[in-house]
Amino acid sequence: MSHYRNEKLRRAVASLPCQAEDCGIEGQTQASHSNQLRDGKGMGIKAHDYRLAALCVACHQQIDQGRDLSRSERQERWDEAHRRTIGLLFERGLVVVK
Ligand SMILES: [Zn+2]
Repeated sequence: MSHYRNEKLRRAVASLPCQAEDCGIEGQTQASHSNQLRDGKGMGIKAHDYRLAALCVACHQQIDQGRDLSRSERQERWDEAHRRTIGLLFERGLVVVK
């Protein structure tokens, strides 16, 4: 499986407000890749660039490594932020179907 890469898409995600539930902070967003095998994550390789969530630095750290969350809670939160991120990319016209 080849990995989809798109720098413009990564930049578009980083331009969004944080999409973690109850956050919404602007200006600190990072493009957070999925850590799930089904999304193309592997040893030393990031998931596909379309498996991104817009997360601020604090939410990114909490969801990736937070000790106060279980593995399944972290995955649920990332998945929810990912769904919101993809929706917002389309709603803001940052992804256009030719
Ligand atoms: Zn946040």
